Amino acid sequence: MTKDNIKHYLIMAGSTSHMLRGDKILKDEGVETSLVPAPAEYGTVCATAIKVKIEDRNRAEKILRQNNISIEGIYPDKTQKLAGLVTKLMDSVISEEFIKVLKKIENGEELGFEDIVLLLKTERRVEKEALYHAADRMRREIVGDVVDIRGAVEFSNYCRKDCKYCGIRRSLSDLARYRMTEDEIMEVVHQLHEIGIKTVILQSGEDLRWTPEKISSLIRRVKKETSMNITLSIGERPREEYELYRKLGANNFLLKIETTNRKLFKFIHPDDDFDHRVQCSKWLKQLGYLNGSGSIIGLPGQRVEDIARDILFFKDMGINMIGIGPFVPAKGTPFEGYPKGSIEMTLKAVAVTRIVCKRVFIPATTALASLDPDGQTKALKAGANTIMLINTPAKYRYNYQIYSDKNMVDLKSAFKAVKEAGRKMPPYLKIDKMTKET
Ligand code: SAH
Repeated sequence: MTKDNIKHYLIMAGSTSHMLRGDKILKDEGVETSLVPAPAEYGTVCATAIKVKIEDRNRAEKILRQNNISIEGIYPDKTQKLAGLVTKLMDSVISEEFIKVLKKIENGEELGFEDIVLLLKTERRVEKEALYHAADRMRREIVGDVVDIRGAVEFSNYCRKDCKYCGIRRSLSDLARYRMTEDEIMEVVHQLHEIGIKTVILQSGEDLRWTPEKISSLIRRVKKETSMNITLSIGERPREEYELYRKLGANNFLLKIETTNRKLFKFIHPDDDFDHRVQCSKWLKQLGYLNGSGSIIGLPGQRVEDIARDILFFKDMGINMIGIGPFVPAKGTPFEGYPKGSIEMTLKAVAVTRIVCKRVFIPATTALASLDPDGQTKALKAGANTIMLINTPAKYRYNYQIYSDKNMVDLKSAFKAVKEAGRKMPPYLKIDKMTKET
């Protein structure tokens, strides 16, 4: 490893709150930072590291020390090479072009658009296996074997938008709408907290009755009563609101771009503007959120090249969490009759995303679990490293079918996927409570 390869340093703080505070202070001081999953070998205390440019390393350290942020260590962000990747495959029937791209991966070189398209387009079994294998190694070397488990509460299915694919879109008049109360949500949050889950995802349609005051009150309570990490997934809101929630302690935000093909974006989102959604995503990053995005695979009219551009978009935008799921037709929507997205293309996209974006969180999505009982296991073996449980109370769940026959991912199914993929459950989960529940 020559020093020339190193462009960034990773700063590990002594705790999650020091990491978040430190990142905010650095940003306020004008240091360019991003939050990334901690390297497998150092990620003992806090799962997230602060990434800074090589030239900012000393200044960042000084600022953090002046502000009493505890630093566990500062490490070079090494170019990830996968030694021996290609040699092992030389005997199999793999095309020369494919080998060339694998060599680039082995040497830690960046992949371009054409390389990505080539990987995504392969139909050959050995090549697909080689791709998944490369992604799996990249995942293991970068973020290790633990699968982060998070819990989601879908707290309202009211929505002001009419996205054509979505099973809770505004014009679905037959759908029984619900809005959970703060107490109902807190009950679930406490259940998650009790079994040791560290992150709660609060997701909903774009429901403006959940005003800034109400959302603030909810965030305050989650923080005060459990100190859990909060991921918001509530759609597009003004910058000031995002800022308010960040200040109150929400630290992750999931706002998927769904597709970077502008024409397709417009077609599927009658009341959304592509540039505005990108702007929202940029705000979230500026405000110091762990910024989540992702795309739907197999949208009507989507091409492989579009998926390749999605992946480059995630990389260029410095997205930290990338949720990639297959399109699942939802009853009563204009897309009800369209074919579902391909599991295989989804897995290839997950794998290429891991290889290209490297140090990111990639969930094995619920949409994959809905189309294939082994979908999450397969994704974990192709580069994914987190699972999101669905913890919406039974009486509401059925009405949050953003797509039909949505699989209910619970601890039991997550545990099964983790085990079958040969991976580890997080050490922070209280296992005996968990087995009681399952
Ligand atoms: N209203 C929020 C949350 C959306 S639901 C927002 O706008 O961000 C969360 C995700 O479900 C969406 O981002 C989308 O990627 C996915 N989704 C919705 N309908 C789907 C469908 N029919 N098939 C596959 N994924 C779907």
